[in-house]
Amino acid sequence: MLPFKPNLIIAIDGYSSCGKSTFAKMIAAELNYIYIDSGAMYRAVTLAALERDIIQNGTVQEDSLPEFLGEIHISFHRNESDMNYQTFLNGKNIETTIRQSRAVSENVSFISTYRLVREKMVQMQRKIGSSGRIVMDGRDIGTVVFPNADIKIFMTADPRIRAQRRFDELVEKGLDVDFDKILENILERDEIDQNRKESPLKKAEDALVLNNSYLSPEEQLHWFMELLANRGFHSYSNK
Ligand code: C5P
Repeated sequence: MLPFKPNLIIAIDGYSSCGKSTFAKMIAAELNYIYIDSGAMYRAVTLAALERDIIQNGTVQEDSLPEFLGEIHISFHRNESDMNYQTFLNGKNIETTIRQSRAVSENVSFISTYRLVREKMVQMQRKIGSSGRIVMDGRDIGTVVFPNADIKIFMTADPRIRAQRRFDELVEKGLDVDFDKILENILERDEIDQNRKESPLKKAEDALVLNNSYLSPEEQLHWFMELLANRGFHSYSNK
């Protein structure tokens, strides 16, 4: 049996819109851990790059990247009313914008292919997670950011189911959205994420696959708690 270790690092990677953040948030709430959405950090960089014309007509101004990245500060603050984390860019709450802006969704995978961008994000992510008690989700958390994470999960789900979930989420927020465009964006992001040169999306060798196409959030949490128990963390409680 593994020794009791209360400060785990839990890495969750997987495809776009397959419920990583819902799953990660539930685990963090259950274990009283911090949840970090690394995708929000890449979205924040994308928003800043669009605002400062670092991305112009689908091209990144590479020469300006070092200075631009040096001026970016991303932080997360917990909203007391619903306990959810909000993303801040240089002190400004950008949570809603990075989730709802189509320009951000359309450019984020593109700018995430740049090595300098990834290095900066990975550096920030390691700093946030250095003392453990963290659940972080993304594309390269188990492979690059925390290769020694205590638990690694690789999530996947049928693309049409993922698109439907994203569609429902945006409709619920009152946005006028097109299912086919959402599906197209998801497939395009999968393609870029899996085939980029820098830290492509792939399952870490020691990650467990969770296909949640037909699993409710509660079933997924149950699966995870069983996994913890099977790994010898059954006496684990941090509440
Ligand atoms: O998780 P989310 O879909 O919000 O992430 C947005 C995009 O950020 C992804 O499609 C991916 O291109 C990029 N990303 C990444 N590495 C991460 C997290 C996100 O490249 N660790």
